[in-house]
Amino acid sequence: MVVSKLNTSKRFGARYGTKAKRKVDKIERHYKGKTYACPSCGKAGVTRQSTGIWQCQKCGHKFANHAYKVV
Ligand SMILES: [Zn+2]
Repeated sequence: MVVSKLNTSKRFGARYGTKAKRKVDKIERHYKGKTYACPSCGKAGVTRQSTGIWQCQKCGHKFANHAYKVV
């Protein structure tokens, strides 16, 4: 599945309104891009496995954090 960096909420079609979809876009853009740095190796390669579960693609380090973001 190819995930566009913008407008990930396009899958909702004409439903839910622009405001709600814009919010979803903002949140999803955060965790769908590999922007978070790994707390173990420091490289930006952390992807979201499940709600609050994150894993580093570089060293394999798995950890728990916020549901939709890493702080
Ligand atoms: Zn790592």
